[in-house]
Amino acid sequence: MSYPNWLSQRAHLSGSRMALAYGREEWTFEEINKIAIEYAERLVSIGITDETRVAILAKSHPESVFIMYACLHTGCEMVMLNERLSAAELKYQLADSGADFLLVDEDLQEKVDFDNKILFGEIKNRNRTEFIPIAEWREDRTISIMYTSGTTGYPKGVRQTAQNHFSSAVSSALNIGISPDDVWLCVMPLFHISGFSILMRSLIYGMGVQLHPKFDAESCARELCAGTVTHMSVVGVTLERVLNQLETENLEVSPNFKSMLAGGGPVPVSYIERAEKFGISVLQTYGMTETSSQTTTLQPADAKRKIGSSGKPLFLYQIKIGTDAAAGEKAEILIRGPQVTPGYIGKYAEREVQNDGWFSTGDIGYLDEEGFLFVVDRRSDLIVSGGENIYPAEIEKVLLGHPAVREAGVCGMPDETWGEVPVAFVVLNEEISTESLKDFLTGRIAGYKIPKAIREVEALPRNASNKVLRRELKTWV
Ligand code: AMP
Ligand code: MG
Ligand code: MG
Repeated sequence: MSYPNWLSQRAHLSGSRMALAYGREEWTFEEINKIAIEYAERLVSIGITDETRVAILAKSHPESVFIMYACLHTGCEMVMLNERLSAAELKYQLADSGADFLLVDEDLQEKVDFDNKILFGEIKNRNRTEFIPIAEWREDRTISIMYTSGTTGYPKGVRQTAQNHFSSAVSSALNIGISPDDVWLCVMPLFHISGFSILMRSLIYGMGVQLHPKFDAESCARELCAGTVTHMSVVGVTLERVLNQLETENLEVSPNFKSMLAGGGPVPVSYIERAEKFGISVLQTYGMTETSSQTTTLQPADAKRKIGSSGKPLFLYQIKIGTDAAAGEKAEILIRGPQVTPGYIGKYAEREVQNDGWFSTGDIGYLDEEGFLFVVDRRSDLIVSGGENIYPAEIEKVLLGHPAVREAGVCGMPDETWGEVPVAFVVLNEEISTESLKDFLTGRIAGYKIPKAIREVEALPRNASNKVLRRELKTWV
């Protein structure tokens, strides 16, 4: 099965509609397609083809979108790099993905070295090679690759195919509906599935995207009140900050605004109630990189009745608990559907991700009598801090690389602002200050992963097979 090229098709079907807005600037689908083709012509002169893997390290601004769309036209695979990662982490992902080129935003060029590093500004100076956009996209074509961390401490590069993105967009539309005037406010990073999926929906629905360079509560509140946007994706902290802004300024949200998609982790019911006062309906979702974002969604009508639930699966998807769990019984959440990744790349390329079509999430949950999903425990002691995922193993591995550290255990600690923050417990070989350990971590792991506290202990709690009991560590916090 193939799809017509989404950009060409969209420009053909609704070329005059708004595709992207940034501040006061706007581009229609016809305009953005033309710009993307020009960029693609320059990318082709650089040597990018449908067999190339291209890493992109970019902030959220129109040029990043133009370049991503140009990549779509060339048929290359895009490895989406997280700008918050350290040089060492970026280097790992560049090597693991076997990227042929790194396209980097001027603002981020100092972040990492790479042989085939091309600045955004340099692309514009390249010659244009005559080029005809690929007319059809195979459904199994990998569009994007996103790294997600795992239990082993090594991040895994997840493939997201045309079919994954298409079914995700269509299922979401069947759930929340679409209308020709929809505009989605994008404050989520484009290198995360939460942000990138907004671009995919834009092409598939013909919907506009209002892009912000980063999340800013005041600017978001302004958009909601001005009626310039109809939808928005949030995580717990950003939702709270927007609500806080609306409350302190005593603002009125425009009736144009339809709903917020809240994902990445559980959203406190109190936020949903506060949102209701402004007429904002919050759709709680459960999903992950491996499922190209949302898999289940809780309708606002059920929010009160099903407190803490992530809802029911979207139309094309199925959810089950373990192999045969009864209602209410807790086990691993399994997911099946066209949005599930066909697999990883690099180090984990050989790992089977589907068993008879079912993907094992590693998350623990249950379905109630009516089939509503409740996620009770996140996979592998995952710490979710302001929507960013932190795996304890990643931090422990780096801490253990310091000669003074004999043992290390990391767990999450509740935090008012971020939901959770990491804390480390260490057994030392020799005296060393917490500050020196934090200095050691800086540059090796992203800033948000650096433990808020590092405590020296005599021994770590371990089980019979000597694994650190992170759950027990939590009681020490
Ligand atoms: P990632 O793909 O790296 O963004 O992480 C996805 C993970 O975030 C899931 O596997 C869950 O562990 C967690 N998560 C996402 N949505 C929810 C939710 N609604 N409730 C609880 N945990 C969630
Ligand atoms: Mg993940
Ligand atoms: Mg997440």
